[in-house]
Amino acid sequence: MSETVPRVGVVGGSLGGLTAALLLRDAGCEVDVYERSRAKLQSRGAGIVLHPMSVRYLIEQELIDLDDVSVPAQWWRYVDVDGRVVHREPCRHRFTSWNTLYHAMYDHFDAEHYHLGREMSGLDKDAERVRVSFSDGGKESFDLLVCADGAASSARELLLPGNKPTYAGYTGWRGTAEEADLSAATLAELADTITYHVMPNSHILTYPIPGHDGARERGHRLMNFVWYRNVAEGADFEALMTDRQGTYRPFSVPPGMLDRKYVNELRDTATALPSAMAEVVHKTAEPFVQGIFDVAVERLVFGRVCLLGDAAFCARPHAAAGTAKAAANAWALAEAMRDHDGDVAAALRAWEPDQLELGRRLVERNREMGERSQFRCTWYPGDPSLMFGLYGPGN
Ligand SMILES: Cc1cc2nc3c(=O)[nH]c(=O)nc-3n(C[C@H](O)[C@H](O)[C@H](O)COP(=O)(O)OP(=O)(O)OC[C@H]3O[C@@H](n4cnc5c(N)ncnc54)[C@H](O)[C@@H]3O)c2cc1C
Repeated sequence: MSETVPRVGVVGGSLGGLTAALLLRDAGCEVDVYERSRAKLQSRGAGIVLHPMSVRYLIEQELIDLDDVSVPAQWWRYVDVDGRVVHREPCRHRFTSWNTLYHAMYDHFDAEHYHLGREMSGLDKDAERVRVSFSDGGKESFDLLVCADGAASSARELLLPGNKPTYAGYTGWRGTAEEADLSAATLAELADTITYHVMPNSHILTYPIPGHDGARERGHRLMNFVWYRNVAEGADFEALMTDRQGTYRPFSVPPGMLDRKYVNELRDTATALPSAMAEVVHKTAEPFVQGIFDVAVERLVFGRVCLLGDAAFCARPHAAAGTAKAAANAWALAEAMRDHDGDVAAALRAWEPDQLELGRRLVERNREMGERSQFRCTWYPGDPSLMFGLYGPGN
């Protein structure tokens, strides 16, 4: 890196922002992270499929051992409504919790450069600098601004005002049950597997993740579920996504905030699922719901500002690659900064094309998977094109 150290601001301190901050710091930049939340972030309560890219930083720096932070599954299975296995093959994936990754990364960033309660409210840029204003009235200026502020990105709104997330017509209902609360039969059936059940216009999957305390032993972990259910755009969607306190949250109503009427409806409807899956849903104390949207952009770079992670492309969750994509964006950015000796404009120009392509392909593949499941009903058990993966099915 050149003798003048580039000053980098990262807006959004979740997994994408933290990965970028760690890598850019290691590449020789002076990095500050600005996170809107006043407190350290907490998982929305769900699992993460571990792609190598999501943990590349933590593994290469020898900060974690995969066996300590994730659980494997032996089989990738599909079951019919009676719980009979209709397809089974070995599973290569491991599963972890969002909290595990967040804390591991947070602990290795410099706390004094991670600023909680700092919400970006505006930005202004010229060829030399980017000036950011915060809702607390503060201002900072940077050589490079990385906007990793998620699917509802305010940076994207400022930079691409006409670009709006598109609602996909369905929702992901999620949650975790304590394995300790599950019957012996259900635990025996689900514990070593990722299990799918396909229904008309819907599917549900379950897989185990580490417990709240990080426990990885069977019987002490959590069983995670994700159930995709169609909800018409408009009044139905708006009512569902309005939390117990009356706030409309189109992207996600977090655990504990979903109107009880919908929690009860979920439990009633779950009775028709294969019995082990029904039990997981019934024993989930606080299910939550996520609106499924497509977010895609035509540009990632605006002078010395870039969009990264879900702020740029937010794919439907079927390939489970959102965290991995954000990490891939961050790795490529740090490499470009190194290759261009800290010349921000040149680095961003070199970085953009491949990241645009990666984002477009992921959004497109997930859209196709979602349409097949929810509307065309052509998602069949064992279809290899429906595997998780960042770069392609199973990859
Ligand atoms: C608290 C939290 C919990 C999550 N839990 C899960 C989970 O359990 N399972 C799962 O699959 N995915 C979860 N996700 C989503 C997952 O992190 C992302 O889909 C993926 O990792 C890409 O991350 P990202 O950093 O690009 O965006 P996000 O993870 O969405 O992070 C965006 C961050 O930007 C911050 N932000 C937004 N606007 C501003 C602003 N104007 N100024 C400053 N900061 C701003 C937000 O508070 C947020 O922390 C969670 C995200 C968050 C924020």
